[in-house]
Amino acid sequence: MFIGIDDTDSPDGMCTTYIASKLVDHFRDRLIGYPRLVRLNPNIKYKTRGNGALAIQVGQGGGSKIEVGHVHETPVFSNSELKKEQWSPDDMEKVISTVEQFSESGDNTNPGIVFSRVPIDPELYMNAVRKEIEMVKIEKLLKSIDAEFVKFGNGRGIIGAASAISWTENPHTFEVLNYSFPAGRRRSITEKLEISNYAESTGLTFDSIDRRNRRPAIFPREKTPVVYGIRGMDPDSLIRLSRDINIKFSVESERTTIFKTNQATDDHIVVNPPLLENLGSYAIDANVLSEPYSIRGGHYFLDLEYNSGRVRAAAFEPTKEFRSIISRLRPGDMVRAFGSFVDETINLEKVRISSVSEEYGRTNPKCKRCGIMTTNRGRNDFRCPSCGARYSLPEYVRINRNLTEGYYEVPVTARRHLSMPLRLRGTVRDINDMY
Ligand code: ATP
Repeated sequence: MFIGIDDTDSPDGMCTTYIASKLVDHFRDRLIGYPRLVRLNPNIKYKTRGNGALAIQVGQGGGSKIEVGHVHETPVFSNSELKKEQWSPDDMEKVISTVEQFSESGDNTNPGIVFSRVPIDPELYMNAVRKEIEMVKIEKLLKSIDAEFVKFGNGRGIIGAASAISWTENPHTFEVLNYSFPAGRRRSITEKLEISNYAESTGLTFDSIDRRNRRPAIFPREKTPVVYGIRGMDPDSLIRLSRDINIKFSVESERTTIFKTNQATDDHIVVNPPLLENLGSYAIDANVLSEPYSIRGGHYFLDLEYNSGRVRAAAFEPTKEFRSIISRLRPGDMVRAFGSFVDETINLEKVRISSVSEEYGRTNPKCKRCGIMTTNRGRNDFRCPSCGARYSLPEYVRINRNLTEGYYEVPVTARRHLSMPLRLRGTVRDINDMY
């Protein structure tokens, strides 16, 4: 049985991954594969934070044992293969009561649970990560495959829940989440930076810290049962690292769970589509049309030409030092711009500078006799300060653009869950895919 859940939390607390972690514990030894944390379209307005949905598979297991976390000191295992279906009405009741018990309430919290005996068409996932989906379509799809679903509030959560089931798990990365509920002790920024730095320096993780902007990225910004989440490519080493950190830094741990996830895969990005649609995310090959301009608050914009049309691109204040690259672009430069298209603007996540145009500046000519710079007396009257020779034409010299071709990305502090860090190129997905 595939079980999907979504939309159980509010900005005030809780986290759908915690509910999934409780279910992982409950269904221990009957779990199949890794629990999944699936990020969906980052531009959906209903999202609370990172638009994450969860799915697990339950049945009689076969194959080998997989460690998927621990509860207090006891490891929790899953199975690499499904041997036989094993599901009862009590199991269903348990899932529903767990979601009820740990869901927040509020207008923007509309939990949904989906139970499906069969996998769901992967096309749903592709649409859910790139477009906006209507709830009626999901209900129709679920009925057509005899899946059951439970809705709380307006039940919008079934969109994410069904989509998480339909994810085919490739490409993927992993994240180990460590929980404490009720929330554990508060930590100083120094302590958080120290722990994040330790995680990053093992070389087993990515996006754990933003040293320049002093952001300990493994720690959540909001109130939630998540103490930290560490991302990487290898599940076993992430589990070991988490244990190591908990002991070394005396971090409280009620439970940890490792999730297989589509984070850092760039699955939301469509390359060079014929049309840009609102709420989609794209990589577009474009020419720079305008000088960059900034507005109050430190946001930078520039106009691009794409498919003979004009598109605005933005590097907002939270993208920090990335803005300095964008501010150096000039008309005539060619770029591949990656980002979400919202309100007619591409919000840049990364950029490839494909070619840097030559820029020339006007300057006083040098005296042909003396070799020294003339002075400008106005109206193209240039005079040599030494011999008095007169010149009527300025010189044009190539300006050092201080910009090199290549890839640039926003810093870790501004990274979206789905966005693939450049250092993972060729690791998470084929390098020729979109780079
Ligand atoms: P958190 O990351 O803290 O778990 P969240 O950011 O995932 O929270 P949710 O509370 O899950 O936010 O709300 C997102 C809502 O949007 C869910 O109801 C989900 O079903 C719905 N949703 C997700 N993707 C889409 C989509 N592509 N089209 C329409 N609705 C979507």
